[in-house]
Amino acid sequence: MPYASPMSTLYDRPAPRDRTREDIYQLIRGSQNLTRSTLVELTGLSSSTVGHAVAKLLADGRIAESQARAKGPGSGSGRPATILNAVSTGSPTGAIDFGHSHIRVALGDDMGNVVDEVTVRLNVDRMSGEGIELACEHLEQLRSAHGTGQLSSVVAGIPGPVDVVTGLVCSPTILSSWVGLAPARELAKRLGVPVLAENDALLGAYGELHRGAGRHHQDFVYVKASHGVGAGLVIKGQTYKGATGLAGEIGHTALAGRSELCRCGNRGCLEAVISMQSIREQIAHTHPHLDPSQISPATLDDPITARILNEAGRTLGKVLADLCNLLNPTALIIGGELGASGPALIDGVRASVNRFAQPATAAAIEVMPAALGRRAELVGALQLAGNLARP
Ligand SMILES: [Zn+2]
Repeated sequence: MPYASPMSTLYDRPAPRDRTREDIYQLIRGSQNLTRSTLVELTGLSSSTVGHAVAKLLADGRIAESQARAKGPGSGSGRPATILNAVSTGSPTGAIDFGHSHIRVALGDDMGNVVDEVTVRLNVDRMSGEGIELACEHLEQLRSAHGTGQLSSVVAGIPGPVDVVTGLVCSPTILSSWVGLAPARELAKRLGVPVLAENDALLGAYGELHRGAGRHHQDFVYVKASHGVGAGLVIKGQTYKGATGLAGEIGHTALAGRSELCRCGNRGCLEAVISMQSIREQIAHTHPHLDPSQISPATLDDPITARILNEAGRTLGKVLADLCNLLNPTALIIGGELGASGPALIDGVRASVNRFAQPATAAAIEVMPAALGRRAELVGALQLAGNLARP
């Protein structure tokens, strides 16, 4: 059965000339109606370099050009600009986002657009086999409901580290029931199509890079902050995975003076202090009428919840400030359920970055919630599946 090794994806660095063309293609695909002159502005490349890349993409049938509509009366004369758009091949694609306690499944097209999606609750951490079966069932149901043919490619997000060489979930302390599993191989076996498995935070970063708050940033850190905490790094417009795919595991950074027991076996990890479970327990102390497992911070509007979220943001921001000193990004994009919880958490992150990062570094950084909200990982997975489905 086809198995797309994580080593053989578009993450591999193409030859410089091809890379420029791919960068330009991604810009065209991620936007609509770009002109050659806009591409020159966006990339900083010469007009001849952009022109050569566009000509090759047109010749390959990957993009098409058309005349922009004439503007309204009084908008001036002159020929309307030629606009460029990516060409769809019509191939259906699939995306799966395994959270710690949910699975999101989407059917999409090769442009990365969502056609339909469904979310199911499951303790994914402890039920890897059931999770894989359930995800495949739902993807098949979506495909059947929409009468689409065979999927061209599927990308799955895993809430733990995936080794880029072996494709195996590899940290015995983070996602124990998945260890030794090759999720891509297992999914490909059941679905009969090529599958790529990636760390979920990396896919969230990819989603925000192409469709969300990262579109205007070349260097940023995306943080998925939900039941676990992980980061996806984008450096010079490319996702960065590290030597073996484990970059960004910030959730297990040890915090000074903290003793909370973490699921990894250590004490005082960032994730143990600010995970959704921890936040819910803190809120439940002051909201005894609420079922702790059902607490959704985004729906609560009271000063105590805001204080708890702000404090969590400050704790997260302290770890991110160190990362900012190291990487000098222009944005911190906070995703996951905590990222979607409202301004109190984001304000807390901002306060710590201002306090602990070097002043010039902090001044260059925007702190914001993920534009795609809790769907960043799913959207990123579908965007990547669309890329894999295309020539
Ligand atoms: Zn830990």
